[in-house]
Amino acid sequence: MRKKINAQFTIMTVVAIILTVILSMVVYYDVLRKEIMNSLKADAMVLNSPGVLDDGGIGERLEPLEGVRVTMINPDGTVCYDSSADIDAMDNHGERPEIQEAFETGEGEIIRKSDTLQKNTYYYAVAMENGRVLRVAKEAGNMWSFLLPLLPALAAMGGMLLLVCVVLAHFLTKSIIAPVEQMAEHMDDEKYQVPYKEMEPFMDTIRVQHEDIMKSSRMRQEFTANVSHELKTPLTAISGYSELIESGIAAGEDATRFAGEIHKSSQRLLMLINDILRLSELDTADGTFVTEKVDLYELAKKCVDMLQISAEKHNVTLMLSGTAGCMIQANREMIEEIMYNLCSNSIRYNVPEGRVIISVGREGNHAVLTVEDTGIGIPPEDQKRIFERFYRVDKSRSKSTGGTGLGLAIVKHAVAKHDAQIGLWSKPGEGTRIRVVFPEDK
Ligand code: ADP
Repeated sequence: MRKKINAQFTIMTVVAIILTVILSMVVYYDVLRKEIMNSLKADAMVLNSPGVLDDGGIGERLEPLEGVRVTMINPDGTVCYDSSADIDAMDNHGERPEIQEAFETGEGEIIRKSDTLQKNTYYYAVAMENGRVLRVAKEAGNMWSFLLPLLPALAAMGGMLLLVCVVLAHFLTKSIIAPVEQMAEHMDDEKYQVPYKEMEPFMDTIRVQHEDIMKSSRMRQEFTANVSHELKTPLTAISGYSELIESGIAAGEDATRFAGEIHKSSQRLLMLINDILRLSELDTADGTFVTEKVDLYELAKKCVDMLQISAEKHNVTLMLSGTAGCMIQANREMIEEIMYNLCSNSIRYNVPEGRVIISVGREGNHAVLTVEDTGIGIPPEDQKRIFERFYRVDKSRSKSTGGTGLGLAIVKHAVAKHDAQIGLWSKPGEGTRIRVVFPEDK
């Protein structure tokens, strides 16, 4: 940017200098021409004064007018006097424009290019009282011959101007850029006033993006730390128990018990890794996924069947309500995951003799899935956070019931992928209800 602005300033300067030089040369030359013509007129006026140009002694009177050629032309166009040429050899001048003009209007002038390129001849003709025309002429350099000697001076001036402008452009660019650089340094500072009004929308967008990047980087860091921490616990247990068995300290029944612990911890590890992989799959997928017509009721029934044993183990009654044929266009696997995770939570965070009702149905054009339980409920302050990765209200209960802390995060992702809405109602001691409202069929 700095280079570009600098270059543009320099180009502007060069163009301005060139234009100024050309313009001043033209003006200068014009003034010069007028000046020469005026001096010729003055000479002619002096010569044309009464009694100055009588036929005799004409040569001496003309001496002071150095470099000026004087010609006198008779009304018939013949030359009757010329200060620097033989009049007999001169042709008829009646057709010359300046002469014609002088005969007609009293005076005429013209500038003629000479054969030699460097020179121009200035002619001024004036009618005399005796009917003749007096013409004075002077040779002077043309535009180039006047300007050539000036060129070195002009080039030097241009060069100096250019130098000054380049230096100024450098500082000017610096002063334009400085606030932008400052802005970059104050990206985090919300109170910082953007120096250029035009930059405000740009700064706002950058700030939002910057915040997003910071947030997602923070989240990734947190996630990595959480994952490491979660994996460490079962691995430490596995390592500890297997060491005891290896060294022979645990034998017989103990060894069997420890092997059981190892089995449990590895199951937990597998579950964790499965959920982590699933989340990262949902994270990285580019938004396109396979969908088909699925019957929510049929999937809910499958889920109830799958979780029946777990429900019995927790002494919880699992019920299904709704009727078959609640069709939506969706990814079967993700809908199964949503149902499984919600129902499994309702069973695990329930009370003995509790109930879980999974219901599917339609509300207007929307298919709705509701999972409701009479469980322990979620305190209001935790309700906003339970969809975060690894967030658990009661860590030990989650772990002891086989939770990874990732179930609802997966649900949230899968719901978002289907453009569905998720709503939560919960009251500690009374229960929890989670509703997923699917979008209208397109
Ligand atoms: P977890 O594997 O720990 O169950 P989830 O992401 O599925 O992880 O849930 C996060 C937390 O939300 C749980 O640890 C639990 O404290 C709370 N929670 C989820 N569902 C319910 C529910 N139906 N009743 C009470 N608490 C729940």
